[in-house]
Amino acid sequence: MISHPQEAAKFVANDERMHWHDKALWFVRDKRDAASKSIPEWEELRDIASEIKIHTLSKLDVYLEEFEKNATEKGIVVHWAKDAEEHNQIVYSLLEKNNVRKLVKSKSMLTEECHLNPYLEERGIEVIDTDLGERIVQLRNEAPSHIVLPAIHLKRSEVSDTFHKELGTEKGNDDPTYLTRAARKSLREDFLSAGAGLTGVNFAIAQTGGVVVCTNEGNADMGSSLPKLHIASMGIEKIIPKLEHLGVFTRLLARSATGQPITSYTSHYHAPVVDGEMHIVIVDNKRTQFLGSKDYYKALNCIRCGACMNTCPVYRRSGGHSYSYVIPGPIGSTLGNFKDPKANKTLPFACTLCGSCTNVCPVKIDLDTQLYTHRQDLNAQGLLSKQKTISMKIAAWVMQRPVLFDLLGKTMRKVVPLLPKSLVYNKYNIWGQTRDLPKMPKNSFKELYKKGLKDEL
Ligand code: SF4
Repeated sequence: MISHPQEAAKFVANDERMHWHDKALWFVRDKRDAASKSIPEWEELRDIASEIKIHTLSKLDVYLEEFEKNATEKGIVVHWAKDAEEHNQIVYSLLEKNNVRKLVKSKSMLTEECHLNPYLEERGIEVIDTDLGERIVQLRNEAPSHIVLPAIHLKRSEVSDTFHKELGTEKGNDDPTYLTRAARKSLREDFLSAGAGLTGVNFAIAQTGGVVVCTNEGNADMGSSLPKLHIASMGIEKIIPKLEHLGVFTRLLARSATGQPITSYTSHYHAPVVDGEMHIVIVDNKRTQFLGSKDYYKALNCIRCGACMNTCPVYRRSGGHSYSYVIPGPIGSTLGNFKDPKANKTLPFACTLCGSCTNVCPVKIDLDTQLYTHRQDLNAQGLLSKQKTISMKIAAWVMQRPVLFDLLGKTMRKVVPLLPKSLVYNKYNIWGQTRDLPKMPKNSFKELYKKGLKDEL
């Protein structure tokens, strides 16, 4: 089991990396703030987006069937997969039937969730991730560390080293334009020689039976139009009822993700290419279980913008690879813990409950409340460590005894200033290396509150 605190400790051990990772993501968060403030009706858009999603989830069966009917009429073949295994089998059988030995894939977190790449590679099919960030991590044999910026944990020099080793670029040349051109040249050859292209789906429109994919690099368009076989993998929650609803989400998505007004490409697919085939695989993989959960169903609203990661103080300082679920950050913590609480039980605690994720989420998912509720569920399921349960029991016991609580508070306010400084500031106490103990107040909050906070304010 991957433990978030243990993996985070490895990430923060490199102080310099931790700081630039934090800064890089805060820069994106700042851009998102500026973009959202440029639209006066931003909050209204968030409300509408959330309502559309909740409405769609309440009639999901109806909209999925409408989508299937309309897509089928346009010559698209729709497949249903109850879980990751079935999804992978369907994709593999389509590739086998068409004698495909190389697949170009544009970013799809669903295929990461289903572990499609290793599944196909074990069966002799070469899979090329074509989003630049995804390609970089694929060449390094790593997982994406962010859903929108998969290689955000890497420095330019590391990308340069990887490209030198894998693509034969000049050693030490870390010029971004040079490296991007090298990646483009190599990917161009892959697009031309691939037998099939697989894309994710950002939105599937029930009314039209078409799907929409948003990218900044145009790689989905290359992968879906050059090969004759296009497979689109989507979770059941990607459905929106009508075309007129799309604009609400496209206005929110790119602004929330990177601060751009819109993604460079918003591609609509409504039919196979000439003389080709288009297949859509609709995947459940435990999503219907969310629908039945009053505490967590809203997690299905997610449009995968990544804003909750960019703002999260824990994610920014611990990196995406410290999370045990395939999607990191606040949304990954709630999705992962719901799907497999045993494997992901440390994730709801990778959270300060500051609520910043909830504030930025364009579809108004109550992320901090969900993470708080997961903690209680984990306790009820007996999945918390003894350390945590015993210390919480002691704290609860003390807090239920106000006289004792007040006495302990009073004693600590007097004793702490007299303790030797070495107890806090020593090489074994990481907390004390970057922080000062606050000055002990004369009175407790309770005393101040009783006095109407007069003296201290
Ligand atoms: S939970 Fe909200 S903020 Fe986070 S990725 Fe999903 S839509 Fe974006």
